[in-house]
Formats: sequence, structure tokens, C-alpha cells
Amino acid sequence: MLAPFTAGWQSSDLHPLVIEKSEGSYVYDSNGRKYLDSLAGLWCTALGGNEPRLVAAATAQLNTLPFYHSFWNRTTKPSLDLAKELLETFTANKMAKAFFTNSGSEANDTQVKLVWYYNNALGRPDKKKFIARAKSYHGSTLIAASLSGLPALHQKFDLPAPFVLHTDCPHYWRYHLPGETEEEFSTRLAKNLEELILKEGPETIAAFIAEPVMGAGGVIPPPATYFEKIQAVVKKYDILFIADEVICAFGRLGTMYGCDKYNIKPDLVSVAKALSSAYMPIGAVLVSPKVSDVIYSQSNKLGSFSHGFTYSGHPVACAVAIEALKIYKERKFVEKVRNIAPRFQDGIKAFSDSPIIGEIRGTGLILGTEFTDNKSPNDPFPSEWGVGAYFGAQCEKHGMLVRVAGDNIMMSPPFIITPEEVDQLISIYGIALKATE
Ligand code: PLP
Repeated sequence: MLAPFTAGWQSSDLHPLVIEKSEGSYVYDSNGRKYLDSLAGLWCTALGGNEPRLVAAATAQLNTLPFYHSFWNRTTKPSLDLAKELLETFTANKMAKAFFTNSGSEANDTQVKLVWYYNNALGRPDKKKFIARAKSYHGSTLIAASLSGLPALHQKFDLPAPFVLHTDCPHYWRYHLPGETEEEFSTRLAKNLEELILKEGPETIAAFIAEPVMGAGGVIPPPATYFEKIQAVVKKYDILFIADEVICAFGRLGTMYGCDKYNIKPDLVSVAKALSSAYMPIGAVLVSPKVSDVIYSQSNKLGSFSHGFTYSGHPVACAVAIEALKIYKERKFVEKVRNIAPRFQDGIKAFSDSPIIGEIRGTGLILGTEFTDNKSPNDPFPSEWGVGAYFGAQCEKHGMLVRVAGDNIMMSPPFIITPEEVDQLISIYGIALKATE
């Protein structure tokens, strides 16, 4: 097998950890070893490992209609029902239509095509550039990787594509100037964004894309007033705002969407991951009437929106997602995450004084740790020391899986995590930290 994001050509040479079973907040490897899954798979299994209602929803749909497509004015009931249910969950701005994909990357690729079609329909063929942010992650297909602001996704792939520009990463601890407050930092970043737009020409900039809390870039919540100031700039130049909610949606931040938490009023939204609690691959784009009205009214003239995937609106994935949304609502997971978050955040942030920790940051059930020397953003440990990798291996040794990216450690436990499991997570983190110090 060629494994994603894995060094070496054949991952079988690397003796991968083979996960065989999951149960609640835990997974088991092929030797029967149990691990607390602090990343919920890949920020996605919000309902944990063995939610019987999701299995029942998939089974019932498989027994009724395992597949039919949604092309050319044919579709299935689960995809229609999910579109309706999903649109109702988003209240930060009015959303009129949902377009289904199989993943977050496909959702973000779809965003680009929607925006280009929209501007072509409006007779603005030059308004095509996208602005994303350094350290963002929007997926790994050609366009989603171009939007992403992580060098590893660009180097050796001749990316980013020329229509993508990157502006500042809103990481206050790492990038603020001496004496600069969070608000001043946000003002400076908004000013830099405006300068970039003016330099390129506002008539060439189509959209700005942002994760409410950056995930794979190291878990970076926005500094105070950031989105308020960025949205003002974007609006001023008639640039669409795309919220990439692939990690943040459905309760992870203690609000239904990241947009609710940071008062973002997007024109377009991408979701995936927890949409089905990852039991089936599915993503979606939510489209505001501002965009969908243009596309609908102009499609007679321009031709159909010729984009989609065989499995767009796959009935089994949609049936599972409908059940997941029902469960989030019935069991009040937004409230549950909000209630358990302080135990998780405070418990881990209590280790902030460690001499090898630069910063611990997070909100809700998402958290990142950045290891640095001298507690300074400017003193990374030599990469050959492998501090992050060592910490990750210690966690694994003591029964917990974490995400390691260089000297950044990331966690986003499932929404079902219990207070006792949070305590276990904190205890293993502490043991691994002591061993790494
Ligand atoms: N957008 C964000 C914010 C993500 O975190 C991810 C994946 O982690 C993606 C998009 C890509 O999603 P997928 O891996 O389902 O293509």
C-alpha cells in the first residue's frame, strides 16, 4: 500500500501500527493493545468507535437502496433529507443549498468551481483569485493543497496553483511584535490583507478561505477581533468568505459551528468529518442564496454546473449523516462539549510551565502543544532531536494516540469522552511530558 502522508515508498516496510477495532473513545491494535484515541481518528469520529445507531442507519439503507446517483435531476431520499437537515443546522448566515462530496478536499475544490462559475455568471471573468492563509490546511487534492498554506503540500508538487495567494497566519504567540496586543495584531493582519488585495487589484480577488480554528497547522484559535476585522476587509472589496468548517463543525468548539463562536457570516461553508462521525466518507458545501441564486438563474445561459462525483449524496453516507445529526441534537453534544472542555483545556494547560513547552492553545475539544526551547517561538529544538516524535511515542507506549507534526502535538478527542477519560488523557500526557523533559 502507498500510505498517505507517510515517509518511505512502501509503508509495509515501516511496520505500521495496525488498528483493528474501536470502542467508545478507544481503539485497539492488531496485538490487542488498547489506546485512548485523543485525535478521534483524524479529528472526525465525534461519536467514538461503536455507535449502534449509525451502524443501524447504514444497514437499513444498505438493505433498501445501497446506491443511486444524484446527477441529471435524479437523486435519492436520504440525500434530499440530509440537505434539508444540514441546512437547518447552520444559523450564522442563511444557507440555501447543500452540494455533497466525499471529503473535505472535494468540498474545497467544489468551492473554487462554485466561485468561478458565480463570477463568470456575473460577467466578472477576471475575479478568480483566492486568498488563503499560511499554515492553513484545506485538503490534499490539487486545488485544496494549493489553498493550504503548509509548505509540505506544495514542495515537489509545483504548487500552489497561480490563482492562490497566501496571507498571514493568525498565530499571535508566534508572530506578534514586541508589545503588540492581540487586537493590534489582528488590526495589522487585516491591514496586510487589504494591502495584498489592493496590490493584486480587488477586481481579481474572488474569495477568502479560512478555518475558524486552524487545525493541522498546529491548532491555532484566532486572536481577539481577528475575524471581525478580516470580514470587514473582505466585504469592502466584494470578496466571498468561505468558512472551512471541516474540523470545527457540529460541536467541537462548544458551538454548533466555528462561525457561531467567532461571529463569522460566510457566503459558503465546507463540512465533512463529523458530518457522519466518519462512519462513512461524506463532505458538503453549504451555499448561501447570494451565490446559489446567481448559479440557478444563470445556468440556462451558461449551461449546467458540470461538476460532481459518482458518490455525491451517496445514500448510505447520507443516511448515516442524518442519524449523526439527530444524535448530536438529541444528546445535546454542543452543550456537553462546552461542559467538558474546561476539564480538558485546564488540565492540559496546567503543564504550560514545562521548560520544553512553548505554548499550549485550544478551545472546546481541540488543543495543540508546541514544544520549543527557552519557551520562545524563536528557539525551535533541532529537528533531529525529534522532540514531538519522542513525546508521541511515549504517549503510545502509555496507551494513547496523539497527532504529531514536527514539534506540534494535536488532540481533538471524541465528543463522547467522559470526565474519567479526560483525566486519563491528562495523566498520560503528563507521564509522556516528564519522560520527554
Ligand atoms: N479542511 C480542513 C480544515 C481539514 O482539516 C481537512 C482534513 O483534515 C480537510 C479540509 C480535508 O478533508 P479530507 O481529508 O476529508 O479531504
